[in-house]
Amino acid sequence: MGVPLLDLKAQYATIKDEVVPAIAEVMESQYFILGPKVVELEKQVAEYSQTKHAIGVSSGTDALLISLMAEGIGHGDEVVTTPFSFFATAGCITRVGATPVFVDIDPVTFNMDPDKLESAINERTKAIIPIHLYGQMADMDPIMDIANRHNLAVIEDGAQAIGAEYKGRRAGSVGHYGCFSFFPSKNLGGAGDGGMVVTNDDERADKLRILRAHGGKPKYYHRFIGGNFRLDALQAAILIVKLRHLDGWTKRRQENADTYRKLFMETGLVMDASEDFHGGCQSWSNCSIKSSGKLTLPDDLDDRRHIYNQFVIRLDRRDELREVLKGKGIGHEVYYPVPFHMQDCFAYLNYRKGDFPASECAAATTLALPIYPELTLDQMKEVVEAISEFVRE
Ligand SMILES: *Cc1c(COP(=O)(O)O)cnc(C)c1O
Repeated sequence: MGVPLLDLKAQYATIKDEVVPAIAEVMESQYFILGPKVVELEKQVAEYSQTKHAIGVSSGTDALLISLMAEGIGHGDEVVTTPFSFFATAGCITRVGATPVFVDIDPVTFNMDPDKLESAINERTKAIIPIHLYGQMADMDPIMDIANRHNLAVIEDGAQAIGAEYKGRRAGSVGHYGCFSFFPSKNLGGAGDGGMVVTNDDERADKLRILRAHGGKPKYYHRFIGGNFRLDALQAAILIVKLRHLDGWTKRRQENADTYRKLFMETGLVMDASEDFHGGCQSWSNCSIKSSGKLTLPDDLDDRRHIYNQFVIRLDRRDELREVLKGKGIGHEVYYPVPFHMQDCFAYLNYRKGDFPASECAAATTLALPIYPELTLDQMKEVVEAISEFVRE
């Protein structure tokens, strides 16, 4: 029958009655850039994220970029992040003229390994960008501890993690900046590009607001060089509607994750990632998953609220499985196949294959499955059956 990776039409059908009038209202107002709808969304996202301020911007990428700009980061500076994320995380660092410095991920959570962080810091380091990959927050306590000791700014890349929690604290509220994306495939997705920066710091919030509109305050008087990073009123109006549904959708994603877990456990093909990977991911060639003939499920840690932007399994022969799934019309994706240190555009950083084994192993073995809120039990059964049949072969 086939299962799509994401079904935005199914979601739209459930909220169309609310979205259409919200769009019409903006059209009647003819107020398109920033304005009252954006202010309203900013208030709601700040509250939702347990922060004092929220600044609507043009995308998640621009949320990262403007945060680096607000921090005054540029040529000669270094920013530490992991090599296993969406390109924007590292791309933004170079766009302000700074140098990305990578530390490997934890092989189980796919997030920054805090034990590796301190050795990457030197006198040129200005900031750390932990990523809350797939919707589960990075281990923020040790990261903040190291950042505070070295007086570094922490910019949370929460593009996949709005509403995620770490020890009761929401994504974006722990670091100095939290960056969200409203790209349509994110848990809170707009009808186009959009993003938000949240912060608890008054001065940083002021500077972000000024930079968002070319750095002019008052208008046409420029102390800073900013850009056009503004959020549209139409996006804000749609996102206000969708934010009301976000916790319900998150609950469905979590229930789907539980269902997958149960169905996969019944196949007897699941390997315990935390037992087999901890102790180190030395290299992909002798990775324990290779010989096991099994797969791992995502770790859902007790002290976190995982919002499952993605449900990511890992297994050997991943690319062969992709062909099988393609043939059956079962949606899937690899987030992400090439770690940053192996990207052509970052060759000048002089990293080598083998420098970040956990990231390289993750890039070779991970596979994201459909997890969207409207997914049905039968669809999940179809996905699990197709995968277990392949793994058993
Ligand atoms: C989606 C994403 C971004 C970029 O967001 P856009 O809104 O697409 O610009 C940045 N970082 C991560 C981890 C993402 O998943």
